Amino acid sequence: MVKQFLYPGFETENFYECPSCSEAITNPICHDCLAKSISKWLDFYPDLKKKLAPRLKKYVQNVNNEASSALNCVACNKKKAALCPYCFTEGIFHLLKRVNINKNVLGEFLVYFNFDPEKQGYIQEAEQEGLY
Ligand SMILES: [Zn+2]
Ligand SMILES: [Zn+2]
Repeated sequence: MVKQFLYPGFETENFYECPSCSEAITNPICHDCLAKSISKWLDFYPDLKKKLAPRLKKYVQNVNNEASSALNCVACNKKKAALCPYCFTEGIFHLLKRVNINKNVLGEFLVYFNFDPEKQGYIQEAEQEGLY
């Protein structure tokens, strides 16, 4: 969703808010780039990668299909960043939990892909569960 705010005396600025959490997206990274880095990380865990691959693919496809508009990705520069990185990785976090992965591996995922620096979402959840 692109929202236009008109400030008196200022030019019109476009704000793009994440359709999932309604926060303004300040660090747009697209689902393709994030999925690529996650898949690279999964190379360390071939069995898990095998198990997760079809779900990951489906998830990325869903995000792609539901995107009505998007921002330019800071990594690949394609206009494909529809969800904020937090919401995207939150989905992955829950995918990982659903396949019952090892707690240490899940904790490692959160170290590499922590888009919750204020600990208000999945990091808080993970801390409560002793994962992080
Ligand atoms: Zn979001
Ligand atoms: Zn990208």
